Amino acid sequence: MTSQRTRERLLKRLEEQGITHPALLQAMGSTPRHIFVDEALASRAYEDTALPIGHGQTISQPYIVARMTQALLEGGTPHKVLEIGTGCGYQTAILARLVNEVYSIERIAALLAGARQRFSELKLRNVHLKHGDGYAGWPQHAAYDAILVSAAPLEIPRSLLEQLAEGGHLVAPVGPPGAQDLVRVTRTRDGYTREKLDRVSFVPLLGGAA
Ligand code: SAH
Repeated sequence: MTSQRTRERLLKRLEEQGITHPALLQAMGSTPRHIFVDEALASRAYEDTALPIGHGQTISQPYIVARMTQALLEGGTPHKVLEIGTGCGYQTAILARLVNEVYSIERIAALLAGARQRFSELKLRNVHLKHGDGYAGWPQHAAYDAILVSAAPLEIPRSLLEQLAEGGHLVAPVGPPGAQDLVRVTRTRDGYTREKLDRVSFVPLLGGAA
């Protein structure tokens, strides 16, 4: 079930859904999604569906990971990316194969520990992890060429917009459960522009570290 054929089927489906970025498709094809989920769910890891990762959280659907990543890459590949909500680390691993440095923040320590273990197994050495509240971002390493938020705030936190470099994209699900839009904000010389990309369903961005 975790064979190369199963993965190729997933890639084909992504292409049919409009994922065309060659390096992104290659990263999705070479990243083993089954190691990011519980062994009992490994046989379902290459289905295009969200799956539970414990602590009431979910690993995002592959199409959504691809859609968000492609939206970040449009206009040029960013060097330094900030991710909010590491979770199991799958989205992080995809980013790490595409950009120079990934900074990722997770509020649940146990999830972060699992993700750290997987990055070491995959020999991904350009991932920097922090246990904390993503609302504040990670100002020490700002500005970021791109910011990806993996949980939905009601409004995009001001601090994250401030840590985005000029010309950079921030992609985030925004809104209450049941009524979320995937939004892309681009920082321009004199402000921000905002586009709606899709209707989505994410777990909420919560305050504080757990
Ligand atoms: N890309 C991840 C998504 C996990 S779900 C994956 O595919 O596994 C969203 C994650 O955001 C959860 O792990 C949740 O704990 C985390 N999260 C929610 N609010 C947060 C906050 N304020 N700061 C950091 N992480 C947060």
